[in-house]
Amino acid sequence: MTVVPFLNFEAAHSSIRSEMLQAFEEVYDGYWYIMGDKLKTFEASYAVFNQVKYAIGVSNGLDALHLCLKSLGIGEGDEVIIPSNTYIATVLAVSYVGATPVFVEPDPLTYNIDPTKLEQAITSKTKAIMPVHLYGQACAMGEIMEIAQNHKLWIVEDNAQAHGATYAGKLTGSFGNVNATSFYPGKNLGALGDAGAVTTDDEFHLENVMKLRNYGSNLKYKHEVIGFNMRLDELQASFLEVKLKYLMKWTKQRQEIASWYDQGLKGLGDLILPSTLEGSTHVYHLYIIRTGMRDALQQHLNANGVGTLIHYPTPPHLQAAYEHLGYKKGDFPIAEELSNTSLSIPIWPGMTKEMVDKVVSEIRNFFV
Ligand SMILES: *Cc1c(COP(=O)(O)O)cnc(C)c1O
Repeated sequence: MTVVPFLNFEAAHSSIRSEMLQAFEEVYDGYWYIMGDKLKTFEASYAVFNQVKYAIGVSNGLDALHLCLKSLGIGEGDEVIIPSNTYIATVLAVSYVGATPVFVEPDPLTYNIDPTKLEQAITSKTKAIMPVHLYGQACAMGEIMEIAQNHKLWIVEDNAQAHGATYAGKLTGSFGNVNATSFYPGKNLGALGDAGAVTTDDEFHLENVMKLRNYGSNLKYKHEVIGFNMRLDELQASFLEVKLKYLMKWTKQRQEIASWYDQGLKGLGDLILPSTLEGSTHVYHLYIIRTGMRDALQQHLNANGVGTLIHYPTPPHLQAAYEHLGYKKGDFPIAEELSNTSLSIPIWPGMTKEMVDKVVSEIRNFFV
């Protein structure tokens, strides 16, 4: 039986093995492991890639989000608007600064925050909107930016899943005042461990985030604020510098696989395929299909050698960690429906046409 894992690094990583080992050797033999030239080089490269003035390497995506909110001075008594179907990290970052997360439902077709529902969530306490470019598709940034401007709200993009995606030709991670991304290994640009970055055009946030990630200090042993240790180490920066060169090639592979799925899976039972908003591009961090028979389909695929995952089985408002917010089942019906019907099928650089055909035929077998 051909087995198609949900995610596999072999194809991508074996093709760059010698470059990665060289990157390792350079750090190993350079005897400088934290806050050195590799970090500076990667920060400059990532800023160029993301078409922003500054990128600041940090420890992971969650810390990047936390640093963004901290740098904006958001804290207790403030409200931050986030999508009701986001990954828990977005919500945690809001909690870390003591602010209150306010959930807004996603568009039921693109799965990104619905701009037409934003205004009704804005109160006198609202400080920021955090659009999450979920699964790799850019949010409706035109409408979101306009609402933010009208209401004088900050924008913090959660770009953990959408490196290289665009809205109206502009890259995600370059719209907001200060934005976060993740280089968790499984993300489209992934390190060999935890890593993340903050992107911004604003020198104030550059200075602030650099300070906050390093014990509140930009000058050794001079501590201006109560900062954190949220640094990106030389080894991960050096690996990321190599992998960044291949990101758009790998992204094209993801998009090609998605187009094969689009063709092979259309018109099957009640199956709903991803749809892309006009003006947005999709970099397919995940390829989500939806059906009322999700659990049975997942069992069928697992039994036949196709790896799947659910992103995400429980929306944030129903997590035990957020019980204190007082939400109950039914409060965010679109997010709940998505969590009950969504299934992520394999999509990764190096996945072959034969593997895609296998996934398609197993799904077809289930429905016909
Ligand atoms: C992965 C992810 C994060 C957190 O990134 P880590 O590097 O795992 O901390 C935040 N938001 C979203 C939407 C993510 O997918």
